[in-house]
Amino acid sequence: MLLNPRPRPHHRPVRRRKAALLASAVSVCLLAAAAPPEPLGVGDRLFPYLGNPGYDVASYDLSFTYPGTNDKPLQAVTTIDAWTTADLDRINLDFAHGTVESVQVDGHPAAFTSAGEDLVVTPDTPLHEGNWTRIIVKHTSNPVAAKDQDGGWVRTLDGLAMANQADAAHLVFPSDDHPSDKAMFTFHITAPNGYTVVANGVPAGVDKVGDSTTWTYRTRHPMATELAQVSIGRSAVVRREGPHGLPVRDVVPSADRKVLEPWLAKTPDQIAWMEDKIGRFPFETYGVLMAEASTGFELETQTLSLFEKHVFTEPAYPQWYIESIMVHELSHQWFGDSVSPRTWSDVWLNEGHATWYEALYAEEKAHKPLEDRMKAAYGSSDRWRDSGGPPALPKVPAPGQKISIFRPNIYDGAALVLYALRQEIGRPAFERLERMWVQEHRDSTAGTADFVRLASSVAGRDLNGFFKAWLYGEKTPPMPGHPDWRATQAPKDAKGRARK
Ligand SMILES: [Zn+2]
Repeated sequence: MLLNPRPRPHHRPVRRRKAALLASAVSVCLLAAAAPPEPLGVGDRLFPYLGNPGYDVASYDLSFTYPGTNDKPLQAVTTIDAWTTADLDRINLDFAHGTVESVQVDGHPAAFTSAGEDLVVTPDTPLHEGNWTRIIVKHTSNPVAAKDQDGGWVRTLDGLAMANQADAAHLVFPSDDHPSDKAMFTFHITAPNGYTVVANGVPAGVDKVGDSTTWTYRTRHPMATELAQVSIGRSAVVRREGPHGLPVRDVVPSADRKVLEPWLAKTPDQIAWMEDKIGRFPFETYGVLMAEASTGFELETQTLSLFEKHVFTEPAYPQWYIESIMVHELSHQWFGDSVSPRTWSDVWLNEGHATWYEALYAEEKAHKPLEDRMKAAYGSSDRWRDSGGPPALPKVPAPGQKISIFRPNIYDGAALVLYALRQEIGRPAFERLERMWVQEHRDSTAGTADFVRLASSVAGRDLNGFFKAWLYGEKTPPMPGHPDWRATQAPKDAKGRARK
């Protein structure tokens, strides 16, 4: 994710609080009795109720029927194939914004209720560890945000797009909504004729029946729920070839196709530039989705990054800046998508690397020295650590904070850690580490400890102390090779502004 330089004020009260308090009070009282349905999680420090214990999702099959207007619920069927990793009397799914009509488990109707932001399903017979199970939920998916919710469907001028990071996929479909449980996805989206639908992955069929059309897409690589994308709109799909025949397809409002073409044409060279740095593009296709929406951010949805169209048409942004944010989202396809974070505290690995390649691209293509940017980041780093926490220990998002965990400490603050590492171990070892990281953890999840281990192995020495200071310290350590770098005073107009 990259916050737009002009964020709009928005109130986002933190969800789950009430449910969490109730759940813990209740479970204390009824210790010995059968526990009531309660919201569960996988223990993420920042989002304790995301994900669920006891199963591992292998695939999602999502069917949505778009009614032709983006202010009414879509009819939906979510089919989940999962492997049980524990005996389960109940199955918790994350789902918090839609009406559930029915649930089936392995072909039998199952009871269900909601608890906090979980849909709690009770199958007619308990599930045993080490089995496949299929859960089918018939539900609605509501694109109109509830008063205290944000994210999930994005209503565009001509339809819908999706922005689920970090904790909003379960506002769209029932899921194990944590990046540690990646799965394969199939999408079937039915929309009135005249709309164009594109989702993650590659097309697997277009069926026109009467006045509606069903579009099917399938991923060829596992994906986190937060990276799902479905675009429904009056769109043009622009196709071209990337490096070594990689299919590139962009999705833009039909009326703006000509105006946006010069930007779209840049993607193949940007992919080639990234491949030169860290190796092959990790997925089956890539492209940008330019949506008629003001989200306040751009987002690395897998194989199809979401951008606000106005970023490309707003004359205030210099060309080099727009290109570097295109590279930011592109580099996330390796850092964040192919290698996804094991916990949300590892998000510095996503944003630190995306900021790193964004800045490196600006240095190589537009003569914006990386060292200048890193020196400026060094100056602010103590303040960022103070307000957002150290890069690998971000503070829990505060109530009403739309930017959630996406603060400067995990962007330039984390890129600064990578710069310090390159200073410490030298450029050849650093570049080898980057290539090995995306290779070793491809299509998987990895955390901070994995990065520290690999860096130590590549450098041939124990870097635990180095990373402990840089990733978890309250104060920024001295910069290797630049003993003169110092913290600077906050600029007078810095208050209340997001980064850049
Ligand atoms: Zn980002």
